[in-house]
Amino acid sequence: MTLNELKNRVLSGGHITPDEALFLAHSKDREALYEAAHDITRQMAERRPDFCSIINARSGRCPEDCKWCAQSARHHTQADVYDLVDKDECLRMARLHEAQGIGRFSLVISGRRPSPALLERICDTVRHIRQHTSIQICASLGLVDEQGMLALKEAGVTRYHCNLETAPSHFPTLCTTHTQAEKTATLRAARKAGLEVCSGGIIGMGETMEQRIELAFTLRELDIPSIPINILAPIPGTPLENQPLLSDEEILTTIALFRFIHPRAALRFAGGRKRLAKDVQRKAAYIGINAAITGDLLTTTGSTATEDHRLMQEAGYAMDDTLFDRLHLWHPYTSTSHPLPVYEVKRAEGAVLTLKDGKQLVDGMSSWWCTVHGYNRPELNEAAQQQLQKMSHVMFGGLTHEPAIELARLLLPLVPPSMQKIFYADSGSVSVEVALKMAVQYWQALGLSAPGCSHLAKKQNFITIRNGYHGDTWNAMSVCDPVTGMHTLFGSALPARWFAPQPRSRFGGTWDETDILPLRTLIESHADELAALILEPVVQGAGGMWFYHPQYLVEAARLCREHNILLIFDEIATGFGRTGKLFAWEHAGVEPDIMCIGKALTGGYMTMAAVLATNQVADTLSAYTPGVFMHGPTFMGNPLACAVACASIRLLTSPEYDWQSRVSRIERQLREELMPAQDLPQVEDVRVLGTIGVIELKHPVDMAQMQRRFVQEGIWVRPFGRLAYVMPPYVIAPEQLTKLTQGLVKIVKEIII
Ligand SMILES: *Cc1c(COP(=O)(O)O)cnc(C)c1O
Repeated sequence: MTLNELKNRVLSGGHITPDEALFLAHSKDREALYEAAHDITRQMAERRPDFCSIINARSGRCPEDCKWCAQSARHHTQADVYDLVDKDECLRMARLHEAQGIGRFSLVISGRRPSPALLERICDTVRHIRQHTSIQICASLGLVDEQGMLALKEAGVTRYHCNLETAPSHFPTLCTTHTQAEKTATLRAARKAGLEVCSGGIIGMGETMEQRIELAFTLRELDIPSIPINILAPIPGTPLENQPLLSDEEILTTIALFRFIHPRAALRFAGGRKRLAKDVQRKAAYIGINAAITGDLLTTTGSTATEDHRLMQEAGYAMDDTLFDRLHLWHPYTSTSHPLPVYEVKRAEGAVLTLKDGKQLVDGMSSWWCTVHGYNRPELNEAAQQQLQKMSHVMFGGLTHEPAIELARLLLPLVPPSMQKIFYADSGSVSVEVALKMAVQYWQALGLSAPGCSHLAKKQNFITIRNGYHGDTWNAMSVCDPVTGMHTLFGSALPARWFAPQPRSRFGGTWDETDILPLRTLIESHADELAALILEPVVQGAGGMWFYHPQYLVEAARLCREHNILLIFDEIATGFGRTGKLFAWEHAGVEPDIMCIGKALTGGYMTMAAVLATNQVADTLSAYTPGVFMHGPTFMGNPLACAVACASIRLLTSPEYDWQSRVSRIERQLREELMPAQDLPQVEDVRVLGTIGVIELKHPVDMAQMQRRFVQEGIWVRPFGRLAYVMPPYVIAPEQLTKLTQGLVKIVKEIII
């Protein structure tokens, strides 16, 4: 057994045993131990220091006999004694700390267990703070049962703190009025109520190194993600007043061991560190401390927030500039109370994103299919600037303009020939809403007005295939996959649609004739009520990154014709060359009645989408009551967006740009560099089509952890579920693409199976 072996085991997701921790504790080469712990911290722990602060909301007169504590009524100390701090005072502190870049604020009260009345007053304070500020609230109130925890959670507390204080074998010598079992019961109650937990201890209370290791392992059994480490500052008047101080070496070794035992946890510097020299504090942070309680601590005075920020920065941590974002901004599909980390982008150029700290990432996402030409493209910048000089917007009701006309002129030759009418919409989801409305209004128009067609008015529902994604607005959502789209969350408020299974015949594989049967059965039995079939041709995007056989579209189109059902293609993701054809319908040669495009339409510059339709659809809407299509967004045909879209399409279709060889070069390289990953034990499937490369994993990924590793590797990839995939801008250079695929495969290999 060597230090390096143990380090590598931890780095690859393994654990060390208590004996091995003891072996590390006795290692002769301290510096090597510190370095090894640093490596673990760097690779596995959060790199943005996590700061919290506390307010001693009630102090003193505690009935318990904890030997270290100044607040025990049994000791004669100088500790303040006061009743619960006024809620406005708490709010004032919370605001101050939020402004200082501190993300969490903990209400701490002395005492064994809060009375129901006190608990209610605390909840009231929490509600008051949450109403006026967004700092996250922790509570540390002693022993609380699950009911109390539920009340705290409901008031707005997200994390409960209760220290184990020391090793189970040492605790009874320091405190006799309560047991550690009562503390673990409190932590369990917090967890059960849905709160995060925070628990650590105090070192330097006469325990041995073995006992510190014992504490660390006890915390690991409880799977504690946030571990405060206090260093005893002996307080005059307490039984521990003459306790000898720990040496720097003992403290740093303890931190290194905690990091080995808790590779991912927030190891939180808490009380007592102020007596350490600055360089020792810095070293502690280098080794493993990646969190701190800052501001004024309970009864000792702590370091100020500014000092702590500087200290962590000097220790090599990335400063968290995103706290305000975290506290106030909603990100897509992200919790506001437990948000995933976000990275601040300063600028972007070509296929490279530059983060605020200067780190450069090769973009593997094209900002969700959009930026096909990369970022900061001169032709597109120019088009936007030119148009700005003329007008950035003008209403489309009763007015028109050259960019809107020009865009239609450029688009029509690229889409199925039967697409003759264009409706400009402001986003993909809105275009899907528009398409669905068109289909319903089409059958309504016929049913209510055309002679002998009244049965058609019943055609108001939709059919689609599972694992699809069509956007997040109400009706768009209703045709997304019911499971990944979490339809149950919306109850009966969401209209119920018909779902056929996902086609299983792979793109490029053999066509299995039975693949179409479920759709046929559904259509045959429900044609009377179906207005349209909507699907993403060939490539299902956000619903599963699946490429299916084009023959499915041929058969589906036939069924639609036979049964009087409109066919809607959602080409929002697949459009503009992404799948190797300009639009994915070309793989099958099947034309829809209505088609949605978006995403890459403006080269990723502006939000814009369009709905294309046949004259059959448009004429019918116009021929019958009410004679118009009932939709008209404020920003319809926005000139700025149209002008950039024109520039983007001109660029895409210019011979010099030669999108086809760009896309096939990327496709070839993706195949060469990703296909070998098929043999990895972590991997279920690898597939490539056009500029889309997908690694489907066997198990869902830890998104935050994987994202962080991608960023460390200098690439931007955002996995979801079991999918890690890339769809780079077409301007990506071969070496950049190699960096992307190598980084992707490297991080996939790191996944612990
Ligand atoms: C992204 C997407 C949408 C929704 O577009 P938004 O612009 O996000 O509203 C709809 N359909 C497909 C296939 C998409 O990929």
